[in-house]
Amino acid sequence: MSLVVLKFGGTSVGDAPSIRQVARITQEATSQWNQVVVVTSAMGKSIAARDNAKVTDALLIAARTAANGDSDTFHRIRRELSDKHQAAIDGAIANADERTRIQEEIEQLLSGFEILCASVRVLGEVTPRALDAISGLGERMAVRILAGALRSQGVPAEPVDATELIITNDHYQSANPLMEATREKTRARLLPLLEGGVVPVITGFIAATAAGVPTTLGRGGSDYSASIIGAALDADEVHNYTDVDGVLTADPRIVPEARTIHTLTGQEMSELAFFGAQVLHPMTIAPLLEHKIPLRVKNTFNPSHPGTLIVHETPGCERGIQNGVTIKAVTVIDRVSMVTLSGRGMKGVPGIAGRLFTAVARTNTSVLMISQASAEQSICFIIPQSASAKVALELKREFAPELSTSEIDHINTVDDAAIVTAVGMGIADTPGVSGKVCSAIGILGININAIAQGSSECGISLVVNGSDSKEAVRAVHGLAAS
Ligand code: ADP
Ligand code: ASP
Ligand code: MG
Repeated sequence: MSLVVLKFGGTSVGDAPSIRQVARITQEATSQWNQVVVVTSAMGKSIAARDNAKVTDALLIAARTAANGDSDTFHRIRRELSDKHQAAIDGAIANADERTRIQEEIEQLLSGFEILCASVRVLGEVTPRALDAISGLGERMAVRILAGALRSQGVPAEPVDATELIITNDHYQSANPLMEATREKTRARLLPLLEGGVVPVITGFIAATAAGVPTTLGRGGSDYSASIIGAALDADEVHNYTDVDGVLTADPRIVPEARTIHTLTGQEMSELAFFGAQVLHPMTIAPLLEHKIPLRVKNTFNPSHPGTLIVHETPGCERGIQNGVTIKAVTVIDRVSMVTLSGRGMKGVPGIAGRLFTAVARTNTSVLMISQASAEQSICFIIPQSASAKVALELKREFAPELSTSEIDHINTVDDAAIVTAVGMGIADTPGVSGKVCSAIGILGININAIAQGSSECGISLVVNGSDSKEAVRAVHGLAAS
């Protein structure tokens, strides 16, 4: 019995022609695999009056403006969402009765959305829990339309809300799945459908706590949903369909000549995703690792292209070096802050680093990178820029005694920095890679503020000023294997 999970991103279901294309890809898969499961994001093209606001963005704008007392915006967004989904229904679903039924279901979901936003406006605040209930609505609308489009092409299909499948903790906006409970629920709900020859069309991004409260897996989380479901069903493969020909050697918006990478290890992919490659959610690989389920990243709009295959056996650093392939890709995280704690009192004093990172953890901030000078006189670490003010405040509080005696000279924060990361198995073991990377950047006169080797040993990260980040990415890309 062969089983494949197909995940389609927002652009892939962005309008009626794209939805019809997704239905064709799925139909084709049903002739190649015994069982096919579909996971989809919310419609990803901008909604009518708001350039750059895709459905999930628009839902979040509605919630936040409602919390500020604005009742016009969420009403307007409801109308825009209604029009956008209506156009998709009209263009992708053949049967008139089906069209009416699905439109009614969507209007019901949108009425619920309006009620939630009205409550947020009355309360004057929006909690992370309410944001999850509101922002997950885009996927719930999309599955209904895509299942209808599949039925229009003669493929039996049923929409399923992942709140029935994926159980998470209550870390709203970035919840963690509880895999055992998820496996049990997912199999109980989906196996009967699959055995009956039905394609379940499942919402990405959303989940629920054990008590049934809606949660989300974080922005871009539909990739993660697909691999959680793939692992729960012991899928043979997961195919992640997006709008580019697989994972590229760099973000094509920064490096237009970026090329498809044919094969990556799970470790390389995780490193790339963690350090900013938007193409996959950073957690996507984790559920697939244990079951060694291969992941293929493909292009909805160029489906004959093989894309990128991500495998879980480690080919080994030696192979990378043998082929001369060390740097495979380069990626960047913009808008980060570099925090440096320095002073003579830090040298040889045990526990400073422990206190430092405990204080940072109190602010609920994740540290992206750490670098410590060997003289132990300073520690520097990188955090998202949005957290820099609260982290600086917490550190000043924690180290107030040392600051008053000048054992710690200063806590310095530099905003608008960027982390540029080169990724490839073997980077850690190949002499001279960091030298090459640094000189490719240095020759352009770009200052390197800090450097660290990734924990998985297949990446090297450099901190540069935000204004230099694109040029630095292009310089490192010049070193990537062709
Ligand atoms: P989806 O809606 O399909 O999930 P995303 O927008 O989340 O798609 O991710 C795909 C986009 O990621 C691409 O259109 C591309 O602009 C961007 N991207 C950034 N880095 C890379 C990379 N290394 N390889 C491929 N795409 C990348
Ligand atoms: N729709 C969600 C988002 O925009 C999840 C996803 O697209 O993967 O973040
Ligand atoms: Mg995505």
